[in-house]
Amino acid sequence: MSRVYNFSAGPAVLPEEVLKEAAEEMLDYKGTGMSVMEMSHRSKAYETIITEAEQDLRDLMNIPDNYKVLFLQGGASQQFAMIPMNLMKNKKAAYIVTGQWAKKAYQEAQKYGDAVKVASSEDKTFSYIPDCSDLDIPEDADYVYICENNTIYGTKYKELPNTKGKTLVSDVSSCFLSEPVDVTKYGIIYGGVQKNVGPAGVVIVIIREDLITEDVLPGTPTMLQYKIHADAKSLYNTPPAYGIYICGKVFKWLKKQGGLAAIKEYNEKKAKILYDFLDSSSLFKGTVVKEDRSLMNVPFVTGDADLDAKFVSEAKAAGFENLKGHRTVGGMRASIYNAMPIEGVEKLVEFMKKFEEENK
Ligand SMILES: *Cc1c(COP(=O)(O)O)cnc(C)c1O
Repeated sequence: MSRVYNFSAGPAVLPEEVLKEAAEEMLDYKGTGMSVMEMSHRSKAYETIITEAEQDLRDLMNIPDNYKVLFLQGGASQQFAMIPMNLMKNKKAAYIVTGQWAKKAYQEAQKYGDAVKVASSEDKTFSYIPDCSDLDIPEDADYVYICENNTIYGTKYKELPNTKGKTLVSDVSSCFLSEPVDVTKYGIIYGGVQKNVGPAGVVIVIIREDLITEDVLPGTPTMLQYKIHADAKSLYNTPPAYGIYICGKVFKWLKKQGGLAAIKEYNEKKAKILYDFLDSSSLFKGTVVKEDRSLMNVPFVTGDADLDAKFVSEAKAAGFENLKGHRTVGGMRASIYNAMPIEGVEKLVEFMKKFEEENK
């Protein structure tokens, strides 16, 4: 068996320990004689799995009691609609557009009400986070929406926007559990788990209780109402059971690493290795303003599309997978999520140095 260094933006690398444990439990989960995949979601064994997963997540993120944790389906993209359907009581919301995912959320919200773009960084190809300290937020906005870590462009909010008292809704898909957060600053924090937490098919929504109401937009499907899922403890219908089980294992793994403060330190160390090299390289350069750099997604270019392609293909041959940048931006992108070991980043930088030497 040989494992590559997988720099994919998502679905992405998972901790090897978790994969091995899941493999060991594949045919007979803890004496049940079946796989978690084959098990009723109403069984005792599964109830323990989902309850523990929620508790471990609550411990890791220090989630207050007045927030619900929902394990849902439909990916992060489904939340682009679910959020306005459930929260747009005044049919108005403020959107900060810092990349394609924020833009998609903004466009989707327009179907349900007046989505107002209050800031954007599109003028410079989303290479920075706009100043959000004093935005023109409509008085009657139901919420302010951000995408906190921009997976494609590699930017991250270092400070949350001043929402002027409005509810903050944040897509944290690509920085989920990468560092400690103060949950109380948000009305909703949500993310598709396939970037940093688990297998595709699960989206986790952490939502303040007062935002969970029956007062949703007319025509909102039952399956898209937070209240339905909250009342049923994420078991209204069959949940993405196996995916939640793997997320639960990742939560336990994170606890073993020392929790989110420790993983943040590790992530900072990893990212510094790569950014320091990019800042000193004569061939490669980062594409994001320094203050707004993501710890998770690191885009870079040589400035020459042919050389970029050569790099990606030689890197692949050397065991560094998925370094090609997003199809809409080109260049390269190294996603260095929680489960990417520091050796992976060190070896990538060694390889980049060698490539730089050979392509002067
Ligand atoms: C990947 C990603 C999405 C889309 O996730 P899906 O689960 O594929 O819908 C949305 N937002 C961010 C920040 C992402 O990285």
